[in-house]
Amino acid sequence: MELIKPPLHPDRFPDELPYGYLKRLAELNQYESPAWLFRNLSSRSSLQTPALSIAVLSAAEWAGNQPTASAVGANTLHLRYCPLCIAERGYWRSAWQSWVSCACTKHQIWLVDRCPSCHSRLPLASTNLSHCACGARLADAPVEIIDSPVEQMQMFLDEGSVPEGYSILPREHGLEDSARAALISLLCNWLDYPKLTVHNFNRELKQCGTARIHLVNAAELLFQPEGLDTFLFRLSQRDSPEFYTSLVLKFVLRLNIDFPQPCFDTLKHQALSYWVHLRKALDQEQGQSSDIADLWEYAEWQVLPHDPK
Ligand SMILES: [Zn+2]
Ligand SMILES: [Zn+2]
Repeated sequence: MELIKPPLHPDRFPDELPYGYLKRLAELNQYESPAWLFRNLSSRSSLQTPALSIAVLSAAEWAGNQPTASAVGANTLHLRYCPLCIAERGYWRSAWQSWVSCACTKHQIWLVDRCPSCHSRLPLASTNLSHCACGARLADAPVEIIDSPVEQMQMFLDEGSVPEGYSILPREHGLEDSARAALISLLCNWLDYPKLTVHNFNRELKQCGTARIHLVNAAELLFQPEGLDTFLFRLSQRDSPEFYTSLVLKFVLRLNIDFPQPCFDTLKHQALSYWVHLRKALDQEQGQSSDIADLWEYAEWQVLPHDPK
């Protein structure tokens, strides 16, 4: 499979989605689809696979040969976009396609993943650079401003930056982009679907609209004062009385398995401390006196990853 150099071939922008660049080339040259840019194309849908489009573009020197971050957990079927970026820049950005990308930090608005007119989702293959298949302009989508925690979570995802002050993550966390995306995904999914988290990772994140509550929960946990307490309170409320607050402990266990890095120690410690004090209060309500040290010992044992054998 080979990319044929078309008559009009501007360089790709450094942050441009590889498939979006193929789309742009096809539109500029008035080709019916990006498939026309290829010799020996095996399947049209394979073009949307980031690894493949990155590989063919890297091999084509005339394309500007920009280094490309492979979007982690990328959505390769539907477009998610910032209407103001589309209006200003006229190309699709790679960063939009991560499952946990939800905001444009340049314009401080929520990303959109439905047509502003027909409200259908936007398949990458049948959506033009600036228009839905129904003819509506993507740039005409209503703009919704994000709150500060959501903006900070998006900056954490995009660049790894953590603001000075109240975040429960240290600024020098050293997390790779894949780990940052996985953390946000875990936090988003955990509150409502703790049992599904492992196998059904991005169940609710496929559309910004329906996932908004989860994304806000995760953003507040990470970047709002007292955000962790709010999260843990909601989590402990979800559990049935006989298990009291065991979801809090399961949450720390999950963190221990997926995020053993020392930068998560504060988060885990605060969560365990929350559980210990909540449990102590619950015991007192039932006329039992429990020892704080014993509760700590129990909690720490519960969150140790055990070999399933
Ligand atoms: Zn934007
Ligand atoms: Zn439409």
